[in-house]
Amino acid sequence: MEGIMKLTKIFEPITINKTEFKNRMVVSAMVTNYCNEDGTPTEKFMAYHEHKAKGGYGIIITEDFAVTRTAGASKTLAGLWEDRQVEPWRVFTDRIHKAGAKTIAQIYHAGRETSSRITGVQPIAPSAIKDPTMPEAPREMSVNEIHDLEKAFVDAALRAKAAGFDGVEVHGAHGYLINQFVSPFSNKRCDEYGGTTENRTRFPREIIQAIRLAAGEDFPIFYRMSSEEYVPGGLEIEEAKLIARLIEDAGADCIHCSQGVFATGHIIIPPAPVPVGGFVHHAAALKTVVDIPVIAVGRINDPLLAESILASGSADLCTMGRASLADSEMPEKARRGDFASILHCIGCVQGCAGEHEQGHPIRCLVNPLTGMEDVYDISPAAEPKKVVVVGGGVSGCEAAIAAAGRGHHVTLLEKSGELGGQWIAASIPMAKGDFSSFIVWQKHMLEKLGVEVRFHVDVTKDTLEEMKPDAVILATGSNPAMPPIKGLREYGVVAQKVLRGEAEVGNKVVVIGGGLVGAETADYLAEHGCGDVTIVEMLPQIVKDGEPAPTYYLKKRMAEHGVKVLTSAAVQEVKEHGVVYKKDESCAEITDVETVVIAIGVRANTVLEESLTDCDFTIVSVGDCHERAKNGYRGIQEGYEAGILI
Ligand code: SF4
Repeated sequence: MEGIMKLTKIFEPITINKTEFKNRMVVSAMVTNYCNEDGTPTEKFMAYHEHKAKGGYGIIITEDFAVTRTAGASKTLAGLWEDRQVEPWRVFTDRIHKAGAKTIAQIYHAGRETSSRITGVQPIAPSAIKDPTMPEAPREMSVNEIHDLEKAFVDAALRAKAAGFDGVEVHGAHGYLINQFVSPFSNKRCDEYGGTTENRTRFPREIIQAIRLAAGEDFPIFYRMSSEEYVPGGLEIEEAKLIARLIEDAGADCIHCSQGVFATGHIIIPPAPVPVGGFVHHAAALKTVVDIPVIAVGRINDPLLAESILASGSADLCTMGRASLADSEMPEKARRGDFASILHCIGCVQGCAGEHEQGHPIRCLVNPLTGMEDVYDISPAAEPKKVVVVGGGVSGCEAAIAAAGRGHHVTLLEKSGELGGQWIAASIPMAKGDFSSFIVWQKHMLEKLGVEVRFHVDVTKDTLEEMKPDAVILATGSNPAMPPIKGLREYGVVAQKVLRGEAEVGNKVVVIGGGLVGAETADYLAEHGCGDVTIVEMLPQIVKDGEPAPTYYLKKRMAEHGVKVLTSAAVQEVKEHGVVYKKDESCAEITDVETVVIAIGVRANTVLEESLTDCDFTIVSVGDCHERAKNGYRGIQEGYEAGILI
């Protein structure tokens, strides 16, 4: 641990109610889409959590358990709505306990934040008001239904206890049903469950009191709440402090302080533009009014950061949800002082939230093993092979790391003098500072695993044949796309060169292409002093390839800096100081342009692959050069898979 501050706080045990948890690092509930449709766990779900338990996280809060058959916001969700689900979950808790962690079942009802497409019934809510992000209006619950649902929460808690969970977390955050009751944004009732803060919190308070009565004095009850919702008329921190006190008085043992509702989803799972630990002040505010432990949440992606948060007294525990997707072994690595081997969540939200939003099982961009613990064999290979990887971009490096991790003898050949490829430029736009940590990690791992890296090698078929490898992994990447537009090659400069400071850029700039790269480059230039930036995009909208949360922040910054956007506009010609485009059947010209930036995409570089006929070695291609150019997320997965399976 030389040169790094001493970690003591995050490894301190904590007693909540009467249960001792071994440290302060919490895995929050994250919907994985790994469960069976009947609410029971799959092997994938169990292996995924088991890895985190073995990796040293002290408290694992499992994803939202539906308390009734129709409570969930996705189909493959955990459930505790009937007794037959208890036994399969007992298998799960046994495995987590054996692996050294404790586990809390989060219990929830989605209320109006689900749809009949998923549940087969009209959603219910405190009031018949449609969630701004959802397709259909809910119906208002009667008081009898409220009481029935309170009982469903209690029954689910009792099943969790019977299944061996070390407690439950009542999910009162993120705009789900309980949050809908608590918030004046969604609760417009005029009875004893609406109006005042006391009334709006009656539903969760009655649930907590009833669980306490049924499950016993010693059974830990956590409560997750959104301290601020960031919607007009929604919850804000002063009222949240009162709510936390009321929840404590009702019998909760711990407050898990989150924020946001579906309408502010970019707050619930904050992407890279949100500073690390950006919401810790909310936990600190709640801590001033309650005596029970408070958990801080939100982009806590580093053990040093967690230690600092705890040392400051802002919270008693830190949730490190996505940090655990990025590195299931982070606590153990931190304990050993092996900080350079820790993979950091970079806030891309591509693998986790991005996959979930499409209804897919979640993954992680920086850690392709996440969600595949039940599939990939990472044990040492029976017969180590001689493997050559061509290309030192992130896909090639990932392939080399995965292969070397299994004990293969790996040589990495790179034509330039550096590793990282296009990821270097991709790390430069605004609010993507964490992205470069991935290259830093890859370089460390290549060295640690003994991969021989050779720079400035122009690889040909002869080069590879002379090396006599068993297998070659091609990760030769891509080249910028250059459609046949008059003047484009002559007067344009590719975005990657601009981002890397390899081109002079004037004050008046036109960026051709409004995909993620074009928009990020325009935003970057506007932030760095270019006074007049215009994006010209052929499609009717920009950033179609971006994830919703970071795109929200990107567009907000672009608007603040006055970046102009021309959509459904096709560039016809690039001149020395002008760009001619066609929109609505007529042509126009942007004049006095000082720099034209090309961000039209990339084309797979398959030159080497095409030359490799009749070779004696296995050939696998990954990343941009494989089939078609793709984003880094897919390329890294391909690299990892090639390396692990070789
Ligand atoms: Fe973090 Fe991206 Fe992995 Fe999600 S996919 S956990 S945001 S690195």
